[in-house]
Amino acid sequence: MATGGVYKNGSHKAPNLRTSSSFKSKLPASNVRRSIPGGGTDSVSGRVRVAVRLRPRNAEEMAADADFADCVELQPELKRLKLRKNNWDSDTYEFDEVLTEYSSQKRVYEVVAKPVVESVLDGYNGTVMAYGQTGTGKTYTLGRLGDEDTSARGIMVRSMEDILVNISPETDSVSVSYLQLYMETIQDLLNPANDNIPIVEDQRTGDVSLPGATVVEIRNQQTFMELLRLGENHRIAANTKLNTESSRSHAILMVQVKRSVLGREDDFSTENENRSHSVGNFKPPILRKGKLVVVDLAGSERVHKSGSEGHMLEEAKSINLSLSALGKCINALAENSAHVPVRDSKLTRLLKDSFGGTSRTSLVVTIGPSPRHRAETASTILFGQRAMKVENMLKIKEEFDYKSLSKRLEIELDKLISDSERQQKVYENEVERIRLEAQKRITEAERNCAEVLQEEKVKCQMDYMESIKKLEEKWNINQQKRAANGEVRMDSGNDEVTELKALLQNEIRLRKAAEEENNNLKLQLLKFSKAALSGGNTDVMNLQEILEEESVQKNKLEEEVRALRSQLSQLSTEANQSRSYLERGRNGNTLAGLDCLSPLNHLQSRDSSNGERASIVNLHEQVGLQKILSLLESEDANVRIHAVKVVANLAAEEANQEKIVEAGGLTSLLMLLRSYEDETIRRIAAGAIANLAMNEANQELIMAQGGICLLAMTASDAEDPQTLRMVAGALANLCGNDKLQMRLRSEGGIKALLGMVRCRHPDVLSQVARGIANFAKCESRASSQGTKPGRSLLIEDGALPWIVQNANNEASLIRRHVELALCHLAQHEVNAKDMISGGALWELVRISRDCSREDIKALARRTLTSSSTFLAEMRRLRIEV
Ligand code: ADP
Ligand code: MG
Repeated sequence: MATGGVYKNGSHKAPNLRTSSSFKSKLPASNVRRSIPGGGTDSVSGRVRVAVRLRPRNAEEMAADADFADCVELQPELKRLKLRKNNWDSDTYEFDEVLTEYSSQKRVYEVVAKPVVESVLDGYNGTVMAYGQTGTGKTYTLGRLGDEDTSARGIMVRSMEDILVNISPETDSVSVSYLQLYMETIQDLLNPANDNIPIVEDQRTGDVSLPGATVVEIRNQQTFMELLRLGENHRIAANTKLNTESSRSHAILMVQVKRSVLGREDDFSTENENRSHSVGNFKPPILRKGKLVVVDLAGSERVHKSGSEGHMLEEAKSINLSLSALGKCINALAENSAHVPVRDSKLTRLLKDSFGGTSRTSLVVTIGPSPRHRAETASTILFGQRAMKVENMLKIKEEFDYKSLSKRLEIELDKLISDSERQQKVYENEVERIRLEAQKRITEAERNCAEVLQEEKVKCQMDYMESIKKLEEKWNINQQKRAANGEVRMDSGNDEVTELKALLQNEIRLRKAAEEENNNLKLQLLKFSKAALSGGNTDVMNLQEILEEESVQKNKLEEEVRALRSQLSQLSTEANQSRSYLERGRNGNTLAGLDCLSPLNHLQSRDSSNGERASIVNLHEQVGLQKILSLLESEDANVRIHAVKVVANLAAEEANQEKIVEAGGLTSLLMLLRSYEDETIRRIAAGAIANLAMNEANQELIMAQGGICLLAMTASDAEDPQTLRMVAGALANLCGNDKLQMRLRSEGGIKALLGMVRCRHPDVLSQVARGIANFAKCESRASSQGTKPGRSLLIEDGALPWIVQNANNEASLIRRHVELALCHLAQHEVNAKDMISGGALWELVRISRDCSREDIKALARRTLTSSSTFLAEMRRLRIEV
């Protein structure tokens, strides 16, 4: 209780006490430090602001107190109130605002409530409370609706008007609950059935809420007015029901204001919003939650004064329990007491944040002028004075609005998805376009390519046709050339025949002409005879002479025709023969016509080709051997080939061989072998030499003219089996000559013979085997005569392995030659050792047992039994023959 002192509470005129007009602007930005999220912990000090309002005298007071002065005197400009103690003494109190009985509702709102409302809009909690004796104008100040006179609208109505003006309906929201606290029970004035609403405190933040209360969203002033009316009606009804007055209950209006600060601060302006498409730029918007609590308290008069209306004491106590608890809390806060008994009543619990909390609180204490209520007035003033000492720490209630962010992001995401889909579509269209373009180009390229290829193909075909044509022309020219060159060729033969036929025709014609002439002459003679008979004899004589001459001429011509006919038949034969050679050559059996050259089968072959050969013999008789041999050196290869064929055929006849050699044919043939320019010539020449080599005298000549070397050379060079067969045949013949043994060996004849086994052709192998057998035979003969001392040259030249290997060759001809060779070799004791080590003994034993030729079988047995070495070995091996 303030006592005396002119300037009570002067020291409490805090430096940050503000007038309404400057309240908001004077909040330093730096002071409003926000600890985001979760409604910051930083705060601004904010003392509870207290205004005092004096009600004008009412009619009753005018009458009753007419003779008395008011108990208070106001000095609004000094914000002072003088409370008269008596006629000469008064106490002076200073308030934040002093509102006289003439103060308008508007001014009261602006002074008391507007700063709080503005704070609420900024995200602070705010409290506007009226305290005072019943009938002093609390409800008038707070709750007047101003239906008839809008200037009379109270703080609730004006606050809501201000709030609705300042919020944006899209982002912000306002909701309202309206309650009554009576006898420690909270009733819902918007839903009277809800008459025992519990108070819930958040343990973490300490915030108090009434989750059971009806909350109505306010979109416009009209709705709010209706709610206030409804609440007021319910309050009257409730009080009637409870048999009480509204002055005994506390009315509490709670206004929750939620504001999104997006667009006002940071990057969340509406303009920026359009720019910031990137999700990364999004910060959650900030949601400010300011709560305005307007409390119309129950009358503060003492119980006993109002108790006259018949209420029980306990009830009266209970009625004012909350109010006295509020007084105690304010006292404790004013004195900075360690304990503030907030929990003593529901009112103090509800107003926990309003006094000593984070709320901006404005208190209006209402007083009446009547000296009769001086004590209550003084009590009210004292309450106000104490309340002025309560310091609150204003704290902004803001948090990140994740819900809103999520919504915004969802919208953004939808937008991005649709953008992406649109871009995807564009991209796909582009891809399709490129694909079609590429397809088009490929088709075009393919078409071009096909055209070029077609052109190229046509060109190639043309070139090909051209080439064919050229080749044909060339071939024709060659054919013509051949026809012109080859005198012994089939075609040339034909030409010759044609020519001879023409000659013959000519001769026939001439003869006919002669015969005709003859007949003419005969006729003339007849005429002359007739004339002579009638005339002279001289002319007749002359004519007879002419006639005789003509007759001789005719005989001569006839003789010539006969000779030509014979020549023609000869040429025809030769032409046929040539044709048959060529045809056989074309069939791959080039030497078929020379089979007779093989010394082993020439007799048989000779029989088959006797006719041809006869004509050749005939031919050579006519043309002359010398002439044919000279043709062997002809420049023309075709002529050479033909000539060598003729010579080879002649050489197949034993009768001709001597003549050929005498005429130098052997030398020419060896020369052909040396030159080996042509495989055919070489083959035929070798065949001819082989035939000549059948004759012993010729064998020596061949040797003397270096034939062994030449044959050996051919044996190593030639590939063709038929050539090799001829060479092997020639060498085999030479092998049968006792006198040539050493030379054959020293000039490589044996080695050449053995070398030819590389060609596995049985004809070649057969000749090789024959040669070896011949050679072995000569050796065994020489050794038995004692002229050959050492071991066999065949063994020395390494023939034994091949001999042993082929001793049982499946070709009987080869087998027989080899068997004979083995027998011959075995006859010379000096060979025995080598033969045993080379496995020949086994073969000899086999021959002696199994050979199909009895003579050879016997020879083998004889040989084996006559050799001591073989006998010893056979004994050792327990072999019996
Ligand atoms: P309380 O609510 O404090 O009990 P009320 O607001 O009901 O008091 O006021 C009681 C009476 O006084 C009412 O008839 C009201 O119209 C009148 N009244 C109160 N204050 C004023 C004022 N400032 N001007 C005119 N009449 C007032
Ligand atoms: Mg009232």
